[in-house]
Amino acid sequence: MRDPVTAYVGLGANLGDPVQAVLDAITRIAELPHTSVIRESSLYRTAPIESTGPHYINAVVEISTSLPAPELLEGLQEIEAEAGRQRPYRNSPRTLDLDLLLYGNDRIDTADLQVPHPRMNERAFVLVPLAEIAPHLVSADQLAVVAGQELTPI
Ligand code: ADP
Ligand code: MG
Repeated sequence: MRDPVTAYVGLGANLGDPVQAVLDAITRIAELPHTSVIRESSLYRTAPIESTGPHYINAVVEISTSLPAPELLEGLQEIEAEAGRQRPYRNSPRTLDLDLLLYGNDRIDTADLQVPHPRMNERAFVLVPLAEIAPHLVSADQLAVVAGQELTPI
């Protein structure tokens, strides 16, 4: 087991009861082995981007974990599966989406896992909650790029 790493997980849901799905997922993330949740952003309501269906609820959590990144991803995918996630087609509406945004300063580029998450800089629903809990990680320029995207704290 490695030394604890600070990592960031993006959460999103837009089916069923998305607020409850996100809150439950945060609880489940805190229950992953060798992992604790350090900070939670507010919940945000966002219009779907590259996706369809109802508005999303999004949030970002900071965790401290000794799990290696692939095992962390596995744990996150188990939580998605428990929440009834199905993937009928790419970017389909989902009960729960958990993305590993950052894992310490690591850069990972394998078939199953790319970190930093390759699309995080295009998404206000990632950058705004991330900036709320880790302002040192998001620049004003990064936020300016996504400033046009609709996003409401709830
Ligand atoms: P998206 O989150 O882009 O809307 P999915 O959740 O369906 O789409 O993505 C599924 C795949 O993305 C997973 O099978 C996983 O292997 C891969 N993936 C690559 N990098 C990451 C990452 N940083 N976090 C989560 N999943 C990732
Ligand atoms: Mg995902």
